[in-house]
Formats: sequence, structure tokens, C-alpha cells
Amino acid sequence: MSEQYDVVVIGAGPAGYAAAIRCAQLGFSTACIEKDKGNDGEPTLGGTCLNWGCIPSKALLDASHKYIEAKEHFADIGITASNVEVDVPKMIARKDEVVKGLTGGITGLFKGNGVTALYGTGKLLANKQVSFTDHDGKETTLEAEHVILAPGSVPVAIPPAPLTEDFIVDSTGALEFSEVPKRLGVIGAGVIGLELGSVWNRLGSEVVVLEALEEFLPMVDERISRDAKKILTNQGLDIRLGTRVTGAEVKDGAVEVSYQDSEGEQTLQVDKLIVAVGRRPFTEGLLAPDCGVNLDERGFLYVNDLCQTDAPNIYAVGDVVRGPMLAHKSSEEGVMVAERIAGFKPLVNYDTIPNVIYTHPEIAWVGKTEQQLKADGDNYKVGSFPFAANGRALAANDTQGSVKVIADADSDRILGVHVMGPQASEIVAQAVIAMEFDASAEDLGLIMFAHPTLSEAVHEAALGVAGHAIHMINRKKK
Ligand code: FAD
Ligand code: AMP
Repeated sequence: MSEQYDVVVIGAGPAGYAAAIRCAQLGFSTACIEKDKGNDGEPTLGGTCLNWGCIPSKALLDASHKYIEAKEHFADIGITASNVEVDVPKMIARKDEVVKGLTGGITGLFKGNGVTALYGTGKLLANKQVSFTDHDGKETTLEAEHVILAPGSVPVAIPPAPLTEDFIVDSTGALEFSEVPKRLGVIGAGVIGLELGSVWNRLGSEVVVLEALEEFLPMVDERISRDAKKILTNQGLDIRLGTRVTGAEVKDGAVEVSYQDSEGEQTLQVDKLIVAVGRRPFTEGLLAPDCGVNLDERGFLYVNDLCQTDAPNIYAVGDVVRGPMLAHKSSEEGVMVAERIAGFKPLVNYDTIPNVIYTHPEIAWVGKTEQQLKADGDNYKVGSFPFAANGRALAANDTQGSVKVIADADSDRILGVHVMGPQASEIVAQAVIAMEFDASAEDLGLIMFAHPTLSEAVHEAALGVAGHAIHMINRKKK
């Protein structure tokens, strides 16, 4: 039996569902295949991001932040909150409700826009055919004019720390603890390790983060990375750099972790261990040998800037292709491909992808860091402004961090903006817009920002590039 579609999409994460919805909106008959089932055992759309990534982690980060605010910081602003307690099962259940609402939303968007959801596994065959096997094992061949591959990524497993149910878990397991572990180990001080470590640290775990690299957050602006390490350490994260985990074993109801640091072999006892050492593209069972799509040397599906694979009319988008593994990058690629299939000419601007780490304070940036510009030998100017001098941050009792604007020394064009502070994830959007329009630091300085807002720190940092932020002392007469 075979079915015919204009477009078949494999994978319904942010890359695949956005591509499928846009294809349907553009008038193509579109099917989207998704294999995953949710925590309730029912088929679910939305991929890692909605089910086991961005959304559930932010639900727990927001909840745990509110808890720590109530417990430790309400008193600073004249509110007495006694007996503040955590109900972990309720917090997890609420997280699941948020996930259910959003994944159900994608089901609704598919129905409303006319995307056919096919629940099961897809495999790309030769000649733009796709084999679809449903959850009962029934196989159908789909004929398509265009195929979009969006199978996403999965957590990297490391041989020294094999997952064992309940004790050694990956990021997915770390979103499901039924109680606060007393002692928690995290392997990897990357974005996911720090976010999940922060959640459980705020809820009461003693958290040790083991990171093989000597440098903390090497992709982040050096000053921010230094400040962030101090702030997170003060919050209670015991971040041990230059420590390579060599083994982990469950013994007597706990995990014994072995690692090496500059002083030799060490051991650490924890109640749970989260392995957060990165993610890898997921291509298992995806490609028939004669389908014409190739992998690159790191196992990603090989594509050009337009997300075209080596096979005609076959595209790949999202975490499974080169570039940062981020939901917004994934969905922009999905939409670009859909619109290109329709004959439009959009591009993804890979130079203006915002990055966010949802610790508190949040860390967000776009464009180049000073260390990258130095390494490239580029001339640049810098303006920065601390939230400690921002009225809104002071009013909100949330003053850690700063904004840094980096501009080209000659043209004044903005090359990068780095924010650590309250709502950095929202603030960085202004920088992305400015950079998309090729703004100069002077342009940003000439724009009016509402007072009092956190965004005024962006304004002041932009003015600071030319040396004349208003709420800073500057004795140069110009
Ligand atoms: P996925 O979301 O992985 O979706 C791929 C889908 O394809 C999956 O549902 C999979 O089941 C399905 N699939 C695979 N193969 C097949 C097949 N053969 N047949 C049928 N279906 C198939 N990113 C952010 O931008 N912001 C964040 O705050 C953020 N937080 C994160 C927190 C955590 C804990 C994690 C793990 C990730 C986070 N990410 C975040 C990353 C984000 O989740 C990914 O970048 C994003 O989900 C990638 O989208 P995708 O569509 O490419 O892949
Ligand atoms: P990310 O890829 O940003 O999620 O970060 C994962 C982090 O895990 C990287 O900084 C790696 O250096 C770190 N890492 C990988 N393997 C190990 C290991 N065996 N022990 C400690 N850290 C590790």
C-alpha cells in the first residue's frame, strides 16, 4: 500500500513540527511522522524540546527559583514567609501538565493547519520514498515530492557512567526525581548540567559538578564566565573543573563516582548522578543505504547552508545537522526549508543565533565574544553596564550581572552582546534585532528605552562603547 504527499517530515520536534506546519500553510499536502510516546505512554508531538528539554526544564527552573526567592530573599524586601516547603511530586506533576498542554497544542496546530500526524517510525528510502511503521508494526510506503529529516538528538552516554534506573540518569531522568536527592553529582558543567544542577541545588541537594575542562563555560564572555562561576558557587554548586570522571558504580543504595583531577584519582559518594556531557545527532534506523543522504565526519546529516542534503529534494534540519543544538535554530531551519520548497528565498542567519543559559542570573549572548575577536585579530570597542546601577534591577532586588556591547572599532557595527542578569533571555532579543538590522552601537544609544526597565542597561552599555553612558562617571569632555 502506498500514500502520496507533497512533503513528508520525519520527526515532530521544533524543527520538524515547524517545517510541517509551514508546509501545510503554504498549501502542500504534508505528513509528519513521530515515534515518541510521552510519560503517559501516549504518542506525543513536540520532540525533546517540549517533552524532555526546554519546556520541562524551564518549568522546574522557574518553580525552584520561586521557592528560593520565598525561602531566602523575601525577607530582604519585607515579606515574612515561614514554613516554605517543597512538594516535589506536585512540582513534577505541574511540569507534566505544562508539557501536556503544549504538546496537545501542537496536535491542535497540526489538525487546524491540515498536517497529517503519523505516529510511528519513519525511514528514508531511495527516490523520495519513506517507509512508515506504526506502533502496531504495520508498514506503509509514502511517496513524497520532498522529504524533510528532523530526527533531532539524544543524550551522549559515556562508558564510565552507564545509566542505571533511578541512580545514574541523563537529563530526561533528572526531570523526574520523586524527591530531592541529598547528595547529587552532575557530570558536565555545560548548559544542561548547570540548569539541572541549579534546580536540585535550589530544592536542597548538595550538588557537585564534575567538569573535565579546566575552563568554565568557554563559549561565554570571559568576564561573565568568571562572575557566573563565583555566583553559582555562592549559590551552593560545588563546581570542580579539570576533573574527568573515570567510573561510576551503584553500591549500597548510593553511587560511587571515581574521577581524576590534578591530585590524582578521587572518589565521591552521591545519591544520584546526572550525566550531562552533551547530545549527539540521532540517525539510528533513519536512512536506507541507497537513499543518497550522507553523514559528516561527526555523525550529523550533511547539509549545505540551505539545509539541502546530498540527495535531491531531501532536506535535514535541527539538532541532526551542524550548528548549535537549540530549539529556535531548529525551527527557523524548518521554516526556511518549507518556504524554499514553495519557491521563496529565506535564509537562516547563523551569525545572530541567541544563546541562553537559564541559571539565575540568566546568561545570554549573541555574536562574538571578546576572546574570539582577539583570536581573530579584530579591532573592537566595548561598553558595559552593571545591573547594580540599574533602577529597575535595584527595585526588584535582582542586581547581579551586567550587559556588555562589543562593536567594531572602525565602523561601530555591533559584533556581540553579552548579558548576565535578570531576564537576560528577554534582553538579548533586543541585541539580536539590532544585529539583524546591522545596527551600530551609536544607533542603539540613540534609541529611547522605557524607564525604569532592565533594558536601559543595554542602552547604557551601547552609549558606553563611545564612552558616554549617562549613569557612569565619565570625565572626558566629548
Ligand atoms: P528533537 O526535539 O529532538 O525532535 C526530534 C523528534 O524526532 C523526536 O521527537 C524523535 O522522537 C523524532 N524521531 C527521530 N527519529 C525518528 C524516526 N526515524 N521516525 C519518527 N520520529 C523520529 N534548546 C533551547 O533552544 N532552549 C532551551 O532552553 C533548551 N533547553 C534544553 C533542556 C534540556 C534538558 C535538553 C535535553 C535540551 C534543551 N534544548 C534547549 C535543546 C532543544 O531541546 C533541541 O535543540 C531541540 O529539541 C531540537 O529540535 P529538533 O526538532 O531538531 O529535535
Ligand atoms: P555540553 O556539551 O555543553 O552539554 O557540555 C558537556 C560537558 O561535559 C562538556 O563541558 C565536557 O567537557 C564535559 N564532559 C564530557 N565528558 C566528561 C567526563 N568524563 N567527566 C567530566 N566532564 C565531562
